Amino acid sequence: MRLILLGPPGAGKGTQAVKIAESYRIPHISTGDIFRKALKEETPLGMKAKEYMDKGQLVPDDIVIGIVQERLQLTDCQDGFLLDGFPRTTDQAKALDGFLKDNGYPIDRCINIEVPFEELIARLTGRRVCKTCGATYHVMFNASSKDGACDACGGELYQRADDNEGTAKERLTVYNNQTAPLIEYYTNQGTLVTIDGLQSIDKVFNDIEDALRGSCNDNH
Ligand SMILES: [Zn+2]
Repeated sequence: MRLILLGPPGAGKGTQAVKIAESYRIPHISTGDIFRKALKEETPLGMKAKEYMDKGQLVPDDIVIGIVQERLQLTDCQDGFLLDGFPRTTDQAKALDGFLKDNGYPIDRCINIEVPFEELIARLTGRRVCKTCGATYHVMFNASSKDGACDACGGELYQRADDNEGTAKERLTVYNNQTAPLIEYYTNQGTLVTIDGLQSIDKVFNDIEDALRGSCNDNH
């Protein structure tokens, strides 16, 4: 099963990625992780990427694609993989398709977890941190029993600057601009499945399993 996972910040993508990787016994390939590894191991492509990152510039597509290709050639990807954080652009998607088709293993499904904008804002801005002990809460998922006070120490809860509405909106706008063309690309390809991310974690995963049933393009 060769899969791509798409979903905005706050959609619960990380949680679902872990469940999918476990259930289908495929490696969860997060671009962030393989970049950190390439940098740490100082591979030739990792060193090239570092030059751009040190200058605060975007790493060019050919280097990003090269690093992903190297990862997909490892033996644990023989029976499939779950890509998370790649592709980010249509050019990257085309390069990935080219590479996989050359090897006779096209993408089976692109899973798109969809959550309404207002819900994402609520999720992304709901985190509260204790000023005294650093314990974290979430007003929707893990609220403290007394409003504004830490259950552990009674300290005052506050919202970090990273979690404010302006930052959340900006992240979602960047994501939408980047991803909208990809949704179109995989829709046209006939591989996109859209999952309602407003449901419980288990229900979202059930829907993903249903969508993947019988969708594999080969015997892998
Ligand atoms: Zn506390």
